Amino acid sequence: MNNLPQIETPALQTLRNVFGYEQFRPMQDEVVDQIIAGGDALVLMPTGGGKSLCFQIPALVRDGIAVVVSPLIALMQDQVAALHQNGIRAAYLNSSLTSQQAAAVEQQVRSGELDLLYVAPERLMMARTLALLEQCTVSLFAIDEAHCVSQWGHDFRPEYIQLSILHERFPKIPRIALTATADETTRKEIIERLALHDARVFNNGFDRPNIQYRISENSGNAREQLYRFIRNEHDGEAGIVYCLSRKRVDDTAAWLSRKGLRALPYHAGLSNEVRQQHQERFLREEGVIIVATIAFGMGIDKPDVRFVAHLNLPKSIEAYYQETGRAGRDGQPANTWMSYGLQDVITLRQMQEGSDANETFKRTERHKLDAMLGLCELTSCRRQALLRYFGDTLDEPCGNCDNCLSPPKTWDATVAAQKALSCVHRTGQRFGVNYLIDVLRGSDADRIKQFSHDKLSTYGIGKEHTSVEWRTLYRQLISHGLLTVDIDGHGGLRLTDESRPVLRGETQLHLRKMIKKGPSGRQRSKTPFGKATDTAFWNALRDKRKQLAAEQGIAAYMIFHDATLMEMVDRRPQTLEQLSRISGVGDRKLEAYGDAFLAVIAEYEGEARDEINDTTAETINLVCNGMKPLEVAHKRDLTLNTVYNHLASAIAQSEIELKDAVDLDEKSLKAIRFEIEQRDDGKLKPVFEALGGEFDYGVLRCVKSDIEARG
Ligand code: ADP
Ligand code: ZN
Repeated sequence: MNNLPQIETPALQTLRNVFGYEQFRPMQDEVVDQIIAGGDALVLMPTGGGKSLCFQIPALVRDGIAVVVSPLIALMQDQVAALHQNGIRAAYLNSSLTSQQAAAVEQQVRSGELDLLYVAPERLMMARTLALLEQCTVSLFAIDEAHCVSQWGHDFRPEYIQLSILHERFPKIPRIALTATADETTRKEIIERLALHDARVFNNGFDRPNIQYRISENSGNAREQLYRFIRNEHDGEAGIVYCLSRKRVDDTAAWLSRKGLRALPYHAGLSNEVRQQHQERFLREEGVIIVATIAFGMGIDKPDVRFVAHLNLPKSIEAYYQETGRAGRDGQPANTWMSYGLQDVITLRQMQEGSDANETFKRTERHKLDAMLGLCELTSCRRQALLRYFGDTLDEPCGNCDNCLSPPKTWDATVAAQKALSCVHRTGQRFGVNYLIDVLRGSDADRIKQFSHDKLSTYGIGKEHTSVEWRTLYRQLISHGLLTVDIDGHGGLRLTDESRPVLRGETQLHLRKMIKKGPSGRQRSKTPFGKATDTAFWNALRDKRKQLAAEQGIAAYMIFHDATLMEMVDRRPQTLEQLSRISGVGDRKLEAYGDAFLAVIAEYEGEARDEINDTTAETINLVCNGMKPLEVAHKRDLTLNTVYNHLASAIAQSEIELKDAVDLDEKSLKAIRFEIEQRDDGKLKPVFEALGGEFDYGVLRCVKSDIEARG
């Protein structure tokens, strides 16, 4: 986006006053202009890109009522409630209303009391609704989730096909179709079926830059890894955990709950009532984790889902991208995490090969799974690969996926692969991985002797690798298509044509090296803030938000999004005027909630801030007068940790020098610096461990502050 000030058009005024946002995002303004001028548009924007404003603003600027077609009946109520929060006159018509309620809405439509009307497609197509609209001034038709019109996509809705008659019945009214999932074919189909031949196409690509992608192999205890990931990086935040089976969902949810997290199961085997209740809690409460089968998610547009985790391998990149796409709709940093193992690969391959589908269908499915496995075993930027898959390009590696953040090591696996493959060959292409590994490692199991496989040339030639390493290798060989899994269900492996060149020594094989720990990337701290005061302040703002939301029975994010609260922490507005300049604070919200939030801010400014400042100052004072940190702790009845926190923040702000705070000889200092600078994730635990626990965390923190202060 350019930095020129945008001219105060009616659209921009609406953006600022009603929604409280300062600037349009790239493309939003062009779309808005096109619709306001009366043209049609097809908008392709990633999830969270800001599609809603593309029709909501023209709806407010143009005369009459805007009709928004959405397939997600369950969500209409939430969307309308969110609009009401901004003081916008909106309502919905769908089968969840009683006939009296529907009649009341129709009356509002007739008397021009509404700016936006959300309708389900089948409702819109009823003669009665169309007749009603013909009596009014319609400002525009918005067709949300427009890919539902595509018969080949996974969300096909037959009712969408009929929407083409809008063009015949209301030829002069602008139409805008929106979607986040349209490849070339789907795009053409939307244009064709909705008669959007004259529409301008706005394509904003697929990238979700705020989402971090991480994929790693299951090195034994995926559940434990998942738990640590949530605790370390997303404590108290909302997330979704996907599992393949209902049983795994139930087990995982129960296990996470026992560990003290608020995890709820969701799958088709639960009663409607329970599912409804769990979904509701996930949407309304803060920090709820939903553990679900892939049945969950369609029509969830909760903006503040901070992570999406997969405990199983999705069967295609499309599925992976759609599921991970539910994270971070609000544009704030979000993580996706996946752990997969050999068993996943075998299970999915078997399911596919064993299905009754026709050969063409199977071939497509196989191709999709291959692409997904390719993404998993990839050693370069994951985002580039993902976007390439969807026909998009990203010129540079993204810097926000695990492979960019800590480039994986590769190794020349040619010889090991030859051993693994020839063991498959020599044993007759009918045994599973465990057996093959036993042969390679020279196990004296009876079974091997029964088959006389202890006489084979491959018996015992693989002792240099552990069983776990061999499993990884076999998984990679399957992923890369050098081995296939038998369809009889016993997991026997067979060679493929692609394995021949490797066996003959004609090609080299470089593979991703196994890492021992779970997927990790740059750590996000538990809260988005470094300073303890800011964290406490942030929590106070969240509490206020929660209270206001509970009073009205709406979701917390409808009051203010996380990004808006974060900006309050940063800028600490003192007056309504200052508060109104924060992104996300429009006129209506300023009036309704401004005072309440200013009160929290004032309280905070008054107490906590000065107190912390004073107490830090006191510590600095004593240290500068020659007292050691431990003595300060005793004298002031503080923990040593707190004292070091004071010192670290004083060093960070260059109030004191490192040598005033800690007593370190040159050699120790060098060693600590070296370990800290080795890592860019900012974590001290690995530093502490690398130094054998010799130095206190407080000391390490001070050195780290010193490094940061020097830039
Ligand atoms: P989509 O429908 O494309 O998934 P939304 O319309 O829900 O995305 O918008 C995603 C988020 O971005 C919402 O929280 C919305 O309020 C916010 N947003 C949209 N446009 C802007 C803007 N111009 N400035 C700031 N925030 C915006
Ligand atoms: Zn990357």
